[in-house]
Amino acid sequence: MISYGVAVHGGVGSPAEFSDGCRTACEAAFQLLEAGKSALDAAVEAARVLEDDGRFNAGSGSVLRIDGKTVEMDAAVMDSEGHIGAVINIRGVKNPVLVARAVLGSPHVAMAGRGAQAFARRLGFGPYYEVSERAAANYERIKSRMGKEDFHFFRQWVGEQKISGGKGKAKRTDTIGVVALDKKGVFSVASSTGGASPMLVGRVGDTPMVGCGFYAGPEGAIAVTGLGEESIRKMLAKTVYDMVAEGMGARASCEKALGLLPQHVDMGIIALTKNDYGAASTRKMPMAQYSAIRP
Ligand code: ASP
Repeated sequence: MISYGVAVHGGVGSPAEFSDGCRTACEAAFQLLEAGKSALDAAVEAARVLEDDGRFNAGSGSVLRIDGKTVEMDAAVMDSEGHIGAVINIRGVKNPVLVARAVLGSPHVAMAGRGAQAFARRLGFGPYYEVSERAAANYERIKSRMGKEDFHFFRQWVGEQKISGGKGKAKRTDTIGVVALDKKGVFSVASSTGGASPMLVGRVGDTPMVGCGFYAGPEGAIAVTGLGEESIRKMLAKTVYDMVAEGMGARASCEKALGLLPQHVDMGIIALTKNDYGAASTRKMPMAQYSAIRP
């Protein structure tokens, strides 16, 4: 039995070398849990550390939209006591997950776009706009791999084939997610992303959608990474949650959920319950996990 613990992923398809970033984030969260802080505090802290890392597609490392200059980010937090906060397509802030946490404390559940940014400013989150070297290089790579014709096509309209990357076309995830369980037995999840490129300005993925990119309930917490369009279609996080709630192990549930997806889709899932931790992904996914076992 897990007494308390935390697990972090750094995005499906991200380089394995990024695992050190996951470990640093995990350690920060685990220390908070050891000190008796809530799972929500711990998950948010781990997500903030990863947003500030710069290598992940979240916060300061967020990728560019198809226009080559816009950064729009999604983030969400939830705990097993029914508290939820999300920001959708927020621009100009350094840590969307902290704004999502603030939304959780507001009368609302989700804030989007300009309103979300105004909300953040009112709470003192200062302006931030930086495009990381990795994000800039990623944009150029996508542009060249897509080819001129596809690129212009995509700018005008997103076809199913293009967005699914059916032929393994350039895709970038590297988004981040955290699941945590505190000493009081409360679960929490935090997720943050710059989106799954290539994508139009205004596109929203699964990360800020409850039950799709994230879910937490009395039986566990789930974080999903990968092509948001497919995760939304399957309400993937809630699907995995329902499996663990029925008693299927965390890992088996993650694996079974991957089997529900079309084969070409990249997806990764982490799940934490009081019994176990489990993960599954279609490609490499940097991860870290610390837990205290009940004697
Ligand atoms: N799920 C995110 C999105 O579709 C991206 C990711 O997880 O890598 O926006």
